Amino acid sequence: MSVSSLYVHVPFCARKCEYCAFYSEASDGDIINRYVAALIRELELVAADLKPRTLFFGGGTPSLLNLRQWEQIFGAMDRLGLRGASEWTVECNPATVSADKARLLREGGVNRISMGVQSLDETLLDRLGRIHSREQVFRSFDLLRQAGFDNLNVDLMFAIPGQTMAIWRATLDEALALGSEHLSCYEVIYEEDTPLYAQLHAGRFDVDEDLACAMYDAWLDRAATAGFRQYEVANLAQHRGTGSPPPYCDPEIPDRACQHNVNYWRGGSFYGVGPSATSYVAGVRAKNWSNTQLYCEQLERGRRAVESSEQLSPRARAGETAAFGLRMPAGWPFAEFQRVTGFDLRGEWQADMEKLVAQGWGCLTPERFQLTRAGLRFADAAAEMFLRPG
Ligand code: SF4
Repeated sequence: MSVSSLYVHVPFCARKCEYCAFYSEASDGDIINRYVAALIRELELVAADLKPRTLFFGGGTPSLLNLRQWEQIFGAMDRLGLRGASEWTVECNPATVSADKARLLREGGVNRISMGVQSLDETLLDRLGRIHSREQVFRSFDLLRQAGFDNLNVDLMFAIPGQTMAIWRATLDEALALGSEHLSCYEVIYEEDTPLYAQLHAGRFDVDEDLACAMYDAWLDRAATAGFRQYEVANLAQHRGTGSPPPYCDPEIPDRACQHNVNYWRGGSFYGVGPSATSYVAGVRAKNWSNTQLYCEQLERGRRAVESSEQLSPRARAGETAAFGLRMPAGWPFAEFQRVTGFDLRGEWQADMEKLVAQGWGCLTPERFQLTRAGLRFADAAAEMFLRPG
């Protein structure tokens, strides 16, 4: 069966943000052109096994690619039969959206934009090392709507050093007033080898976990009043009840949920192309080199730039799938888990579910197991209990 999800990693940013540990580098014209040629080569190598229902261009900053580079990618995708996905997302930085680019993307078949806003407070945007201003957020949002995008995501961050609850509430109100269909929200993570991590360890600020919890709760409560429904720990979406039914038609998942990401959390297969991208096909997880130079060299020799691959045992794979799925408030319908993994969650994992129920983190019904609101706050710890050795 063809794989129906494709992720494309674009490893370039105008400047590196203070907190970022994703694989990306400051851009330069020549290497981007070389990357585009290598990417097209990699798409050629996987196309025969792909019929994308969801496409996701992430990064990095995909919107940094210029019009000519996008046209080259679209041309290759046409030739390879990779267009026509029902959901096609491109991540955009508000500083890199122009009317021409928005139009080109929309006319090229992109129908969902995920905008990395992070904050609407100028001081905090500076603090994070973001290249865009708050004004550029509002302007880009308008440009995208004018170009015909009716499915937009806004990404926000909370627990940023220096962010008070009052600033967070003001950002939430302004972000909700934009009227996006989707809202993602991430707590700042201190990743090693980032400037923010170094500042934390140099004692330049403290982490206030209670404030972070209060901010997360404020986000859920405020967004609920604007009609958003939570469908993953960090993701909310509107349910409009319009258009064709999404492939995952669990009534607990709103129809403006990101279908590409739901496929990850539901244990589906996907190809990932581009430097550092991960694929999961036929039970084998493979990862490309996190090095754009090396990536290009390998593709120029006609082979994929895979750094490592591993085949998990069916039991380990099922445990991992269980763990991913519990990040969704919908949890796991037992029948769906059995269909995806071949295992019954009530066999191997019954004791883990009962333990979570006893501590108030889980809810067990005859149809499904799901985390409670308290459990979702600690979803990583809860999910870890479901992992099994490979
Ligand atoms: S724009 Fe995104 S990918 Fe690029 S450095 Fe900032 S957070 Fe990282």
